[in-house]
Amino acid sequence: MRADPADYRLVSPGNLQAVLSLMAGEPAQWLPIAGGTDVMVLYSAGKLPNRKLVNIWNIPELRQIEIFPDRICIGAACTYTSLRRHEIVAREFPLLATAASWTGGIANQNRGTLGGNIANASPAADSLPALLVYDAEVTLISVGGERRVAYRNFHLDYKQTALAADELIRDISLPRRFSGHVSHARKVGVRNAQAISKVCLAALGRMANGTIQDVRLALGSVAPVPLRLNETEHLLAGKKIEPSLIDSARESVVQKIRPIDDIRSTARYRAAVAGNLVAEFLEKLAAEGAKA
Ligand SMILES: Cc1cc2nc3c(=O)[nH]c(=O)nc-3n(C[C@H](O)[C@H](O)[C@H](O)COP(=O)(O)OP(=O)(O)OC[C@H]3O[C@@H](n4cnc5c(N)ncnc54)[C@H](O)[C@@H]3O)c2cc1C
Repeated sequence: MRADPADYRLVSPGNLQAVLSLMAGEPAQWLPIAGGTDVMVLYSAGKLPNRKLVNIWNIPELRQIEIFPDRICIGAACTYTSLRRHEIVAREFPLLATAASWTGGIANQNRGTLGGNIANASPAADSLPALLVYDAEVTLISVGGERRVAYRNFHLDYKQTALAADELIRDISLPRRFSGHVSHARKVGVRNAQAISKVCLAALGRMANGTIQDVRLALGSVAPVPLRLNETEHLLAGKKIEPSLIDSARESVVQKIRPIDDIRSTARYRAAVAGNLVAEFLEKLAAEGAKA
């Protein structure tokens, strides 16, 4: 059943403090709407429980990308298009720029925001594995002040997050220390644009003297939350990349993930693909390491 607009209220205060005051005054009543690319899908299907929407699309503090010597700070309402076009994001955070290029079609990229992708908390969201491997930190803001949460601690369970009812994600901060790493981003879906991932991978690695000096792996669509593969990373650290190590890594990935059968794929297929994507990355890392 389609929603009736007369049942909903949308306000647009235009500044951050006014939005936060509104949310604090009636916690859990006001749903922030940024690009609306997730919210409007629910609305159109008549499945949006909230009747009060507060627009955060036009809040200047949420739309800027700030560059510091040691980190980049991305406003939560920055769109995929702004991420793709940003020179430093493209150069130093290619996993994020690539994920942005996968996220729906151009129209979706012009509206969809990074903060919306995080708060919507889909385990299949494309930008979230990149945030895990880049050690992102999110700043949450309410009338009571700000707090910083390591992004790895943000998703608590399926669609459950550390965000309180009166809080907004203000920005996402990424340390600028991964530009020397080999990076590998892969989305497996029916097609790249306009398709939800069956599995997606974000991976970073650095070789030194023929061994893995640093490796960071994260997968989407294989568990209730985007998943960092700490055990597999631990298994790989300090080793030379050989076929037997790749086999062990593949096994360790399959042990760790908890994929499901759904309309897009089967758990068995997802497990096989997840292992293959990590193996593919390790082969690439070995080849890059041999050139260095
Ligand atoms: C056609 C189509 C294709 C898509 N393809 C993909 C895809 O390939 N990959 C993918 O990952 N996603 C995809 N999506 C999903 C969607 O575009 C993304 O999740 C997008 O990032 C959501 O951002 P938004 O600003 O539109 O969020 P909104 O719809 O505005 O909000 C989504 C949720 O986040 C909350 N929220 C938004 N901003 C904040 C904030 N700053 N603080 C706190 N809460 C906030 C809202 O209250 C809401 O609960 C697709 C959607 C459509 C319609």
